[in-house]
Amino acid sequence: MPSKPRSLRVASVYMREWVKNHPEWRAMNAGRHHEHYHRYKALVFERLGNRCAICSWTDERALQIDHIYGRNDSRYDFLPKSQGGYGYGYLRKIAELENLTELFQLLCANHNWIKKHEMKEFAYYKR
Ligand SMILES: [Zn+2]
Repeated sequence: MPSKPRSLRVASVYMREWVKNHPEWRAMNAGRHHEHYHRYKALVFERLGNRCAICSWTDERALQIDHIYGRNDSRYDFLPKSQGGYGYGYLRKIAELENLTELFQLLCANHNWIKKHEMKEFAYYKR
């Protein structure tokens, strides 16, 4: 891997130090990120009906975005791989999908876990 020119390396060290010494800037930026995250999450939830597809549970604290065909299905290959949860980039991308409702649904925590068991999505089933 080619190493960065010295001037860039110095600049990035300087930036890192600067950010460390300006916690208010960090907090502001994190806050903005958080805001966007919630906006896209709300948009996805709204497009998916704001309720569990099976039992109509509506408390969003226990609602989860579910990959209808299982997260390893090739239909989701065009999306960045999500590591467990859903990052901001992932949410933004799916929020804008025309066929969102064909690929994703909302499930309450109970139905999400039950589905995971039925679809054997757990690693320990894969032998
Ligand atoms: Zn449910």
